[in-house]
Amino acid sequence: MHIDKKKCIGCANCVPVCPMGAIYIAQDRLAEVNSEVCVECQACYRGMSVENLPQQPTRFLRGLLAFFKLRFQPDPDICPTGAITRDELVWPRTLRRTFSDPLVPHESTGIGGRGTMEVKTNDVTERIKEGEAGFTVEFGRPGIGAYFRDVDRVCRALAATAAVFEPENPVTVLMTDAKTGKIREDVLNEKVLSCILEFKVKITEMPEMLKIVEREVNHLDTVVALGIAIRCDAEGNDTVRKQIEALGFDAWRGKLNMGLGRRTNPQPVPEVKS
Ligand code: SF4
Ligand code: SF4
Repeated sequence: MHIDKKKCIGCANCVPVCPMGAIYIAQDRLAEVNSEVCVECQACYRGMSVENLPQQPTRFLRGLLAFFKLRFQPDPDICPTGAITRDELVWPRTLRRTFSDPLVPHESTGIGGRGTMEVKTNDVTERIKEGEAGFTVEFGRPGIGAYFRDVDRVCRALAATAAVFEPENPVTVLMTDAKTGKIREDVLNEKVLSCILEFKVKITEMPEMLKIVEREVNHLDTVVALGIAIRCDAEGNDTVRKQIEALGFDAWRGKLNMGLGRRTNPQPVPEVKS
């Protein structure tokens, strides 16, 4: 994304719209985008209405009114001159948009945004089976984002254990080899609003995973949110809460799947033996 300086009047309406703080008013009193910070989420381009006022007369009018202590300020959701300009993105920068713009489907999943349906659809996908613990590690947030070099560090640490990365996940797709967890070299310096890594282990290996994630997160230049998914027992109780709390973490149920989903991938019916 960039600002067309021939159009911009420096009203600063676009500055608070950017979730990454990438837009600022430069010394020439016109807006600029810090392309290193910009994650190509398109919020500025899509989120603001456009009025195609001519730059020179509008700037002149603003300056004149300012001289008389008066203001001409467009409504806050408007770029009065249509100066916010979308770039033709090329690889690997396209990755920024794929992960940060919820309206762009990811090639690996066909789903917009940064991940898969995760465990929210476990009712029908059965990704997490009994005795398994599924992990989601969410890197980045608005305001800070996440570089793939940080994601790479955690992936490589986890790959050295029994962790099995979810093959449909768009972060896994970026690995040169899911056995090493190494993310391809050409995307390491790309930044996204956030992305989600998914893997699973046996429940007995869960404490080790928690320790690894906690250790690696301390070296990252971003924030991380960790989720664990398990199947409840027949009474609806989870079997890991006490274990997690004993390791010094807070644990609470954030989401509950009721098991009411329609199974679209039926398991083979076992043969009835007489
Ligand atoms: S909203 Fe438009 S005219 Fe105003 S500072 Fe931003 S790019 Fe420039
Ligand atoms: S595309 Fe997104 S991150 Fe980039 S300048 Fe616009 S709002 Fe900010």
